[in-house]
Formats: sequence, C-alpha cells, structure tokens
Amino acid sequence: MAFDYDLFVLGGGSGGVRAARMSAQTGARVALAEQSKMGGTCVVRGCVPKKFMVYASEFADAFEHAKGFGWTVGAPDFSWDTLRDRVQAEVTRLSGIYQNIMDKNDVEVFHTRAIIKDPHTVHLVDEGRDITAERILIAVGGTPFRDEAIDPSGIGIVSDDVFHLPEQPKRIVIAGGGYIAIEFAHIFAGLGTEVTLVYRGERLLKAFDKEISERVEANLKAHGVRYISNTVFTSLTEENGEKVIELANGDTLRTDEVFWAIGRLPLTDGLGLEDAGVKLDGNRAVIVDEDYRTSVPSIFAIGDVTNRVNLTPVAIREGAAFASTQFAGVPKRMDYHFIPKAVFSQPPVGSVGPTEAHCVAMDHDIDVYEADFRPMKNVLADSDERMLMKLIVDRNNDRVVACHMVGADAPEMIQIAAIAVKAGLTKQQFDETCALHPTVAEELVTMSNKRTPTGYK
Ligand code: NDP
Repeated sequence: MAFDYDLFVLGGGSGGVRAARMSAQTGARVALAEQSKMGGTCVVRGCVPKKFMVYASEFADAFEHAKGFGWTVGAPDFSWDTLRDRVQAEVTRLSGIYQNIMDKNDVEVFHTRAIIKDPHTVHLVDEGRDITAERILIAVGGTPFRDEAIDPSGIGIVSDDVFHLPEQPKRIVIAGGGYIAIEFAHIFAGLGTEVTLVYRGERLLKAFDKEISERVEANLKAHGVRYISNTVFTSLTEENGEKVIELANGDTLRTDEVFWAIGRLPLTDGLGLEDAGVKLDGNRAVIVDEDYRTSVPSIFAIGDVTNRVNLTPVAIREGAAFASTQFAGVPKRMDYHFIPKAVFSQPPVGSVGPTEAHCVAMDHDIDVYEADFRPMKNVLADSDERMLMKLIVDRNNDRVVACHMVGADAPEMIQIAAIAVKAGLTKQQFDETCALHPTVAEELVTMSNKRTPTGYK
C-alpha cells in the first residue's frame, strides 16, 4: 500500500521535532502536525519562559547582596509587562527556529489539531482531510492538571496561563509541592508578590533526597513564602474581586490569584487513540515497549504522553532513538539510568542517582559524604544561605552512585557530576582530582565528612 508519508508526527515539541528531523535526514518523507506554536511545552509554556522568570526574580537577592560588596543600589523597580513581553518575544523567536528546522529538513508542518483514525490514518481537523502514513508517532506531551472538583469554572490559573497574566498579582496562593509549585513560589516571591504555598503532604519535593527537600523548605521560608503543609483546598470562590480558598485545616485564604501546580496529565483525550486500538494506562498515558511501540505496531509514542520521565532531554533522546531505530537502521534505546534533575528553586537543586532513603530501603551498602557550608560569596553578601552537597558511595566498590545538592549553581555542577557518576567513577577517583580553588564545586573532590546513612541497619 502506498502511503502519503513514511512518518506522521503528532506534536511539534522537543521530542516530536527531534524525531521528525532525524527521520527526514535519512530520506524518509515526514509530516508533522502542531495545533499551537512550534516548540511544545518546554519552549512555549515551560522550561524556557520559566527560566527567564527565574533569572528575573533572582535580581531581588542580587540587589540586596550587592550592598555588602560596596554598591549603593537605589530602590529597584520591576515591570511585569516588560518581562512578560520580552519573554514572549523570545519564545516567538525560538518557536520560529523550530519551524525553520522543519522547513530546512523538508518536514511538512500542518498547523492544525490532528487525530488518529486508524493504524495508518491521521485526520487533520482544521483542513478536514485525512492523511496516511506508514508509521505514526504520538509526541503530544502533557497538560497541567486542575482540580475540577474544587475549581470547575477555572478560577485558578495553571502553568500555561502564568506567562500571559495581564498584571503581576500582589498576592498568590500556589497549590502543590513539586517542581512547578516551588519554582513559581520563588519566582513570585522574588518579584515582590506575597506568596502562600499549600501542600497536601508533609515534605515538599518528596521524590528528592530528604535533606535536600528539607533545605528547600527552609529556603522558601527564608524568602518570605508562607508554607502551609498537610492540607488541601476544600473550596475556591470569588468574592468582591478576591479569590477565597477554604482549606481542609479550617483556614480561609484571600488572594488575588490562585495557581494550580498539582501535576500534569498526558494529553491523550480526544486523540482517537482507543478507537485506533492504542492502549492507555490508568493515568491515560500511552503504553509503549522499549522501542516506543504502542499496542498498534505502526503507532509509536515518546515523551510526556508516555508519562515516564517527563523531562525535555528525555523526550529528545527518545525521539532520536526512535528515528535511529525505525529509519536509520541503527537500533537505539534511551538509557534511563542516572538522568540528572534540577529544581530551579532559589537556590536551586541538582540531583543525580538514588536518594539516601532509597539506598537504605534497597539494603544497599553505602556511605554518605556531606558538605554543608556558607559559600564565600554569601559572607560579604551578608546572606545566611548555605550550600548542601551529598555524595552517596557504594561501600562494596567505592563507586559514587549519587550526588545531591542544593545551593547556588547546583544544576550547572550536577550536569558535570552526572558524567562522573554515570561513568561509575569511585570516591577515590573524585578525591584524586585536583581541586579548583576558590570554587564551590571544589567541595566535590575534597569531601571527607563521612557518616553512615540515616536508618541504616
Ligand atoms: P510534580 O509531580 O512535580 O508535583 C505535583 C505536586 O502536586 C505534588 O506535590 C503532589 O503531591 C501535588 N498534588 C498532586 N495531586 C494533587 C491534588 N489532587 N491536590 C493537591 N495536591 C496534589 O508536578 P508539577 O506540576 O510540579 O510538574 C509536572 C512535571 O513537569 C514534573 O513532574 C516534571 O516532570 C516536569 N517539570 C520539570 C521541571 C524541571 O525539570 N525543573 C520544572 C517543571 C516541571 P504529592 O507530593 O503528595 O504527590
């Protein structure tokens, strides 16, 4: 049977664009559909605009710290409109680059919603026509989850909306205790908004090392964020221009803006997947095998729509592995071991490898090395903020199996440390590497403060 294309990709985000480009470069005839701006969550409504906002909000501390170094700083003034518009201009520029990548590689882009009709047919909704392809790749990503039971009419915003707010809220209540909640609590606090964070559990960032997340909580409080744990919203209403939240603990909060940051869901609704025979899991994520193949042999899926490791570089690598295996004739699979992670809190978190608690639970024979110190910059800056670094070492072979840190530039350091950890270097090899002085990172090769893990049997 002759198909219109060799590959049809649904979704022009990081994963879809990488898969489309690499497949097209093998000579395959490729088309892609994107219903919004090219670039996907990361570029348009995620990592990229978020990081610009992180940078913007960090100036609050920088102005303050500058005084300790002899600077006289006038009363700083911040314009939300300027930041928002400049961020959007950059997002538009980057989105154009994604489109150019497709054009240069002869990938035909349809700016429409597309749904799957059968194992080889896609329907282009805006154009009202069908297209056939030998293989179909679902790379549509995820979408923020809003608690519809509490907020059926959408009084609160989600991360998609936060980059477009007409004005900076004076007060905001953020629900959640994960990446987005913490990053935006710091962003808004740094920009001068009064922030309250409401988390249903006990410990923020619960998937991270306990000491790291405890330090994150302390740093949030030090930045003036009001933190309310162990409770949830029971109602959200609007009264006289204010948003009113009732909490399960009996408290009432009044605020200008409410931000749901309680997780993301795979964007599978209305995509025609069940009708085409594509199986979904209980969270409505597409189920795939190690080669990203769904229950329908001609249909594949990568990235957040599979709800495994929901990070941009993972989607990119999955897209590359898919193209290599299916079109270049070189079978490849993503290696999910030792994926470095960062939370852009202030200061930020960097992490690679298992947590101390996980190692203990798995009965791994480990030692923990720790450094907890005030970076030299903070001395003259008159800041009490400290840096916490941990190395987890396998006692059986001396390998450094994990590195966790919270402090200035932690994500930059962890990207480098991840090379050593993934390569399986030993603590002795870390120690044999000459320190670079004066840096914060030198602690990684001079760490001698050893302890047995907490709860170790
Ligand atoms: P996370 O999964 O990080 O956190 C969700 C938070 O919401 C958790 O604290 C969770 O509580 C809480 N929660 C879940 N459901 C409810 C509910 N019904 N009511 C109240 N609270 C609830 O999700 P995010 O939305 O922050 O981010 C989504 C994903 O996007 C991340 O997991 C990550 O993969 C990616 N991301 C990565 C970033 C980075 O790399 N820096 C930045 C932003 C996003 P509990 O802890 O009890 O489960």
